[in-house]
Amino acid sequence: GTCCLSIVLIFLFQAQTPIQPVTTQEKVEALLAKMTLEEKVGQMAQVTLDVITKGKNEYVSDEPLQLDMALVRKALIEYKLGSVLNTANNRARTPEKWHEIISQLQDVATKETRLKIPVIYGVDAIHGTTYTAGATFFPQQIGQAATWNRAIVKKGAEICAYETRASSIPWNFSPVLDLGRDARFPRLWETFGEDVYLTAELGKQMIDGYEGESNDIKNPYRVASCLKHFLGYQVPNSGKDRTPAFIPELELRERHLPAFKAAIDAGAHTVMINSGLINGTPVHADYTILTKLLKEELGFKGVAVTDWKDIDNLYERDKVAATPKEAVKLAINAGIDMSMIPYNFKFCDYLIALVKEGEVPMSRIDDAVRRILTLKFELGLFETPVTNYKDYPQFGSKAFEESAYVAASESITLLKNSNGVLPLKKGAKLLVTGPNANSMRSLNGGWSYSWQGEKVSEFGEKYNTILEALQQKGGKDNITFVQGVAYKDDGKYWEEKDVDIDAAVKAAAKVDYIILCAGENSYTEKPGDLHDLTLSANQIALAKALVKTGKPVILVLNEGRPRLISSFERDVQGVLQSYLPGNFGGDAIADILYGTVNPSGKLPYTYPMYANTLVTYDHKPSEEQSKMQGVYDYESDFAVQYPFGFGLSYTSFQYSDLQVSKSAIAANEKITVSVTVKNTGTRDGKEVVQLFIADQYASITPDMKRLRGFEKINLKAGESQKVTFTIAPRDIAFVAKDLRWTVEKGDYEVSVGTLKAKFTLSEGKTFDDKASNL
Ligand code: BGC
Repeated sequence: GTCCLSIVLIFLFQAQTPIQPVTTQEKVEALLAKMTLEEKVGQMAQVTLDVITKGKNEYVSDEPLQLDMALVRKALIEYKLGSVLNTANNRARTPEKWHEIISQLQDVATKETRLKIPVIYGVDAIHGTTYTAGATFFPQQIGQAATWNRAIVKKGAEICAYETRASSIPWNFSPVLDLGRDARFPRLWETFGEDVYLTAELGKQMIDGYEGESNDIKNPYRVASCLKHFLGYQVPNSGKDRTPAFIPELELRERHLPAFKAAIDAGAHTVMINSGLINGTPVHADYTILTKLLKEELGFKGVAVTDWKDIDNLYERDKVAATPKEAVKLAINAGIDMSMIPYNFKFCDYLIALVKEGEVPMSRIDDAVRRILTLKFELGLFETPVTNYKDYPQFGSKAFEESAYVAASESITLLKNSNGVLPLKKGAKLLVTGPNANSMRSLNGGWSYSWQGEKVSEFGEKYNTILEALQQKGGKDNITFVQGVAYKDDGKYWEEKDVDIDAAVKAAAKVDYIILCAGENSYTEKPGDLHDLTLSANQIALAKALVKTGKPVILVLNEGRPRLISSFERDVQGVLQSYLPGNFGGDAIADILYGTVNPSGKLPYTYPMYANTLVTYDHKPSEEQSKMQGVYDYESDFAVQYPFGFGLSYTSFQYSDLQVSKSAIAANEKITVSVTVKNTGTRDGKEVVQLFIADQYASITPDMKRLRGFEKINLKAGESQKVTFTIAPRDIAFVAKDLRWTVEKGDYEVSVGTLKAKFTLSEGKTFDDKASNL
């Protein structure tokens, strides 16, 4: 009896209740099945907050910001938009304000729209959560790379994720995995530098920090990451932003792809596309790169979002589309899933029409929307559309600030220290001078409270400039400040004013040391394009006048890219590169100058000496020769100011006993390489042990050497440590003429410090997959 009854009940229950979707995939399919074409296309568009606020595009202080609810409803209900980005009026706001704004958006999205799909909010939180007042700002990526410290990079990303979620934002347009191989490029400082191995290693750490090791982004302390800018951005021929690059497929695969592949394999959820052209094709219209390579070959399952207005650019700028509508067709058919800045909603109208006309297949739309909905489900936005700052008590905490300080202090790189001029003697009298001496803006760089970093002084007041930190640590009475040269604060902020070099020279007469703080003002993207990589004429004039005083000059560089200093570098006693160290950079610089911190940063790029000599360390042998050796007694044609990986310490390290575990291996064997490092000086210090491998000859001219291992170690005075690396055949592979990763038999040289060892590969091999991890 009971048995029959329960069978009937189960039957009745099943007949009345549709099967509840359980997995994310089932939820996505169930939702997709209910969506109209208009709803699907809306999910594929992302507007900036400016578009839906009052007083849009007035770059003025505008608190309290107000959403224009009529425009919000137009975007989310009429056009059914699924995503919003960045800030309004180019300005940072408190976590409370962010909560209010995003709650209002989510209320409309999840209560007033037909399918109640939450909006996904994205932001460029590239060294801390850019648009949030009180957020913890780390060194920019180039500085993080200079730490060569995996744990620091991961920790910084964890803190950034926490504070971004504390600002109610779940999606971060970071990290940049482009290679900073051209010193002229205005976004070099957003990269991990010139080397693909260093970039891949640190990129993985950043993904782990943002998304968690298991990529569980439902965790409210994690954000979805976005790999930028796929593929081959930052190396255009002109050195200027968003201009054409010509990159052979071999070079794309060998140099530009591996860091992206590693990050995709590490589970990164989204990718942003290169805003430039490669080999004549804008990447946003390139089916081979977006679909064949990214989605098919690399198996990327996440969302491919355009960069700013880049569908528009296919028509307006790059002339591959005859009409704006055709631009939409090209981009979506090439593999774009989401359009950032959708031409004031016209993107949606065009795409709907294109689908109806059969120009864009419905399967392509479904593919894009599946990816976007999956991301929203995985982020937990359907359950928790908005996180609340009240649940994030560690936002801006002392502990977070301490991590940012440690990152800054491990990034700063001592490049010259003649006769041990540093550390400074206690009580020494200093002249502090130069345009970067008293600027929080230049310490932070772009993407700091605003796009170009021009609002830093408004929000960054509680932190110390280099001058303020020196005054605190060295005593106000010991420090004279004469600026000498200053940046213009508004308008053409890359220009300089108030040249007061004579006053600086005069003040130098009364001091023991001159601390010249030089470099660049903050910038990013196009506004940072340059005519000349040389340090500005005013700053060089200041430097030359100061060295003439005979007082020891210590040059503190604070710059996004290496500006040429060779016209006076030999006359200064000390050089400290601080990159863009963030809000705690002033403190870290002062601690290193006074010696309470021992510097341990190493250059993540080659510091060029001359404007026509821009080489990377992994160059070809023909870029190594001196000018007709033995005929002319010139310095090398390829002389550099400071090499990649270089950086001094206040202690000294000695390398010994470099060993390879086997002198001959087959193509499926690994070897271990070990070396002993000893701190031979009198104070504790950190050293970055770097392992390079050089293929001695190959069917394609091999690079001089390639970084294939590094470890940052901490050694007490007198202490030694053995460091061991494992080398797999993959590590010595290169992309051969058939575009496959290949190893060839022959000799290889391993180098660590000045030590070298050899091993031989007894057989060649071609690896199966075309895209390889290093
Ligand atoms: C930049 C991207 C950035 C995007 C959104 C673009 O101009 O190239 O790196 O993520 O704007 O702010």
